[in-house]
This record gives sequence, structure tokens and C-alpha cells, in this order.
Amino acid sequence: MAYEPIWMEDPSKLNKFEFAKIQKDGLDVIRTIIEEYADKGYAAIDPDDMLRFKWAGVYEQKPKDGYFMMRIRINSGVLTSAQTRAIASLGRDYGRGLIDVTTRQAIQYHWLKVEDMPDIFKRLEEVGLYSYEACGDCPRTIVGNPLQGIDKDELMDTSALVEEVNDFFLMNRDFSNLPRKYKMSISSNIHNNGNAEINCLAFTPAVKVIDGAEVIGFHAHVGGGLSAKPFLARQMNMFIRPEEVLKVAEGITVIYRDHGYREKRHHSRLKFLIADWGVEKFQEKLLELIGPMPERGEDKTVGWTSSYYDGVHPQKQEGLSYVGLNVPVGRLNSDELDELARLADEYGDGTVRTTQSQNIILAGVPNEKVDALLAEQVLERLTPFPNRFMSRTVSCTGNEFCNLALVETKEFAREVAKYLDNELGRIDEEVRIHFIGCPNSCGQKHIADIGLQGALVKTPEGMVDAFDIAVGGTLGPDATFNTALKGRVRHDRVAPVLKELVLFYKNNKLEGETFHKY
Ligand code: SF4
Repeated sequence: MAYEPIWMEDPSKLNKFEFAKIQKDGLDVIRTIIEEYADKGYAAIDPDDMLRFKWAGVYEQKPKDGYFMMRIRINSGVLTSAQTRAIASLGRDYGRGLIDVTTRQAIQYHWLKVEDMPDIFKRLEEVGLYSYEACGDCPRTIVGNPLQGIDKDELMDTSALVEEVNDFFLMNRDFSNLPRKYKMSISSNIHNNGNAEINCLAFTPAVKVIDGAEVIGFHAHVGGGLSAKPFLARQMNMFIRPEEVLKVAEGITVIYRDHGYREKRHHSRLKFLIADWGVEKFQEKLLELIGPMPERGEDKTVGWTSSYYDGVHPQKQEGLSYVGLNVPVGRLNSDELDELARLADEYGDGTVRTTQSQNIILAGVPNEKVDALLAEQVLERLTPFPNRFMSRTVSCTGNEFCNLALVETKEFAREVAKYLDNELGRIDEEVRIHFIGCPNSCGQKHIADIGLQGALVKTPEGMVDAFDIAVGGTLGPDATFNTALKGRVRHDRVAPVLKELVLFYKNNKLEGETFHKY
């Protein structure tokens, strides 16, 4: 498809970030890092290039004194053991051994220096991994079903399809200058393992009878996203055969690239274009580009697992199981990750899989080996049988490393989960609690049973950390964002307030009622 940067026709409609992108493509910064900044060091970095570092998957870390965080994209969260070892060893060599699993199935390092980056890029590439375009105004990590290929509840194995779409978009200069970040999800799991509704573009399982035969394919959803103005993606009226997914993804991305807003950065995501145009007009525009498509078929999404897989579960392959592990608030270390790579080889199919709930799955374990796997020492902390609240607590990076954060989140989330487990450990209720440090919502606060967003409150002792609380978020067929409760709770009151909230829910809920449905 022709690449015509039509947004340049009226430069008065461009924000200042857009001019930096026109002057130098974000992807070009990778070469500049390797050839220039790695030698000259942090002080030599041009401020505009610092903005472009995101295309290398790199952000400046708080407090902007020479250290960086880096994100590694992982398609559907599926890593080989060799890739897992490479990630562990790079984390040990350059990132103080700290490994974070993100809510988009990526891995995040901290404490990197610009001098380290050429070696990191090279060693990642050697195992087929990239940090490139894990951040920036471009197509990012494609999230999906971490159980792809082993899942009893998927209509088809999406592994090859996700690779195909990823390979098309990754480092593709036709799409390296989008108005803003662009998030895709592809899953054929009937329990919405791809968290479809919060993506710019999502493919979900569907079937349709065509020429007398039932065809397995997808429905497409567009315009989802979180942050300060969250939107649920809306379904288009078309059925997409697997071999047409890339064509549809390309067409939608072209429309976003050429018609997405570039005037205000906080109003540039695809969700704003869809909200203004409506999904019907957007679809008309798409069909002009890609030609006619069959109308929607039968939707096969029946619920939402909320991306949790802890415990031991049968795979679609007879005699094999996968084991979902809890990674408390998504943080582990290089030694633990190395151990998981060893376990994947010794007991499983050699894969280590990250989830959108910031956890990890080991797969392909013969049933007779499960007990021995469960006895391994590393699973004492990364346990498949976690305490109730620790198992369902998600947190963004927070002000430990993130320049946009208003408050600390990760350690705080861990402390709150521990408190709730101590106080309410025997409770039956399963409550998903998400913490975020600012409205950007990397910790996906809006889809939590209880979502907490960091803020500051004035007290006699000065400004202190506090949280706004919202309840009742979910995805899947009942998808809805959570609703804000009145008031703001200072940090030292958050744990007891959540305890009261959970107890109130337990004691007052009606038959069949859940946090989001009443
Ligand atoms: Fe940083 Fe805000 Fe994202 Fe948390 S939600 S990691 S504070 S940008």
C-alpha cells in the first residue's frame, strides 16, 4: 500500500513531537545509539534523540541521571528457553539482575547505561529477540494467548499468525511514524486471553459458514485503550479468515497512520479517531482499501480468564500439563529466570510464557513429571499455588523508575497484598487488585475488580502519597471499566480500606453477584 504522509499537508496541525519525528525517523536512533552515544556517553545525547530512544525500546529512568529502562517485545509472551537464558544473563550483566514482567507480556530491564546498549541489542538479536519498537509511536508488542498451541480452549494455534503480523510490522518504515503508540492483540482463545477490548486493534475467535463449510477465523475490534480517557474497542462487522488477518491489520494501520490525529499527543490514539468517525465509517474506509469482506460470523468469545493461569492444568495434548506460576507484582530476578529456563528444558517443552497478569507459565510438562517439577526450590517463591491476594495483584512500575509516576506502586502493592492475605487469607472471594502510579494506566487499573490510581494529598505533614479507588472492571462479553468511588485514600489507610471493601462485598453480595455484575 502506498505510503503518502498526508498529515504533512497542514503542518499547523502537528504537535512539536511530530516535527522531531519528521526530521529523523525514530528507528534511526538505534544506529545513532550504537555508533555514537554508546561511545560518547549519556551527556552527549541530543534531547530530540532522547525522545526517539523509545523506538529502541528504551526510556530514561527516574531521576534522569544516566540510567535507562528497556522493554523487550515477546509475541504472545512465548519465549524459548534459550531466549529466556539470554534475557536472564543480560539482566544480570547490565540490569542489576532485576526482571519485570509487564502487563503486555513484555520483559522490562532497569539500570541500563547507554554504553551497554550495543551489546544488549546484539545479544538479543542473536536469540531472535528485539527491544526495537517495544515503545514509541509504532506497532508495539503483539499480545495474545500465552497458551497458543497448547490450549484446549483455542479454535486455532495462533503462533504462526502472530509471527507473520509481527514480522511485517517490526522495523517497517512505512509504519514507524504513527500518531501515537499502537497496540495489537491476536488470540483464538474463547476466554479472551488476548484482553481484546483494551487494544487499538484486536482479533478474537469466530466461525462462519462459507460455501457450505464452517471456517475458523476472527472478528476484529478497533479503538480500545486505557489512560485518562479509556475506551473499549468496538467490533467491526466483518469475518476475517486467518490468511486475511495481515491484510486487515495493514489496512487499519494505514488509516490510523494517515488519518489519526497529530495535533495533541493526549488525543492521538486510534480510539479518538474511532470515537469521532464511528466504527461504520471506519469500516467503510477500510473496505475501500482492502476490498470487500464477508459480514460478521458467530462470535466464539464466551468469557474472560483475566489472564490468570496459576495451578496445574491439562493441555490439549493428551498427558501434558501447563503450570501457571505467580510472580509477585511481576518482579523476579535473573537467577530465578535462569532456573525457569532450566525447568522448561528439564520438565517441559522448552518454553517459558509471560502473561498479561505479569506472571509466568511453564508448558508441555508430562503429567508424571508434574510432582517433581512442583518440588523444585524456585517454585517456593514463584509458586503455582499463591496466596489469594498476592496472586491477583498487578502493579505498574511506579516512581521507583518511572518519570511520570506520582507515587511508588510496586512495593506498596506487594505490602497491601501481603496485609490482605494475612487479614483475609481464608476468604473465598477472588478479587483482582491493580495499582497504577499515574493516569497512563500501564497497570491496567480500569479492568480490575479494585483499581487504585496514585495521587497526592495535602496533609498537615505536607503532601503524601494517596490513591483514588475504583471498583467493578472486567473484560469479555460483559466488558466494562470500573467505577470511581468518592474520596481519596492516603497510602497508610489503603490496606485497611481495601479490607473493609472486600468484607463489605463478601457480606452483602447477592447470589451470583460478582464485583462487576449486579
Ligand atoms: Fe509510569 Fe504511570 Fe505507567 Fe505507572 S502507569 S508505569 S506511573 S506511566
